[in-house]
Amino acid sequence: MADTALDALIEALRRLPGVGQKSAQRVAFHLLQHDRDGARRLAHALDVAAERVHHCARCHTFTEDEVCPVCRDPERDARLLCVVETPADQHALERSGGYRGLYFVLMGRLSPLDGIGAGDIGAAELIERASDGTVQEVILATSFTAEGEVTAHALAQALRSRGLKVTRLARGVPAGSEIEYVDLGTIAHALVDRR
Ligand SMILES: [Zn+2]
Repeated sequence: MADTALDALIEALRRLPGVGQKSAQRVAFHLLQHDRDGARRLAHALDVAAERVHHCARCHTFTEDEVCPVCRDPERDARLLCVVETPADQHALERSGGYRGLYFVLMGRLSPLDGIGAGDIGAAELIERASDGTVQEVILATSFTAEGEVTAHALAQALRSRGLKVTRLARGVPAGSEIEYVDLGTIAHALVDRR
């Protein structure tokens, strides 16, 4: 347990991904010494976001509504359902401008070693979502990492066994890539060339 307010702050910062003890201390000292206003704004923004942001009932992405704006948009092509790992990957695909269908966000990927299984990525919900009678093609846009490929393979099997058409982003995307870091032109091409 943290003894002081400063210890508690450093401990809370250390829980962030990629932040170790030294970085946590550096951020804590910076905020307290140079940017108390920023610290208060950060605390407030975190509080509000933690209170208001939920998962979309249809695609699981982050939203403040029951159903997110993309899922509600009547201009989107409801016959296409693109499966991504994270909201960041979804944004990358949106920015590529090449996709007008809908999404399903796994909020992770299969990782047996970390104990992340089909239940943790909403596989059953995805299959139910894709079986709504409107979806004609499920595009798997998980990362081209080992875990992303395992996830795509498992989902493809489950979806195909229910008679759904499944495609995968084309191989223009370099192996080992996280979708979120791939350049937009490559994503656009990978979408067009999906198979
Ligand atoms: Zn949604």
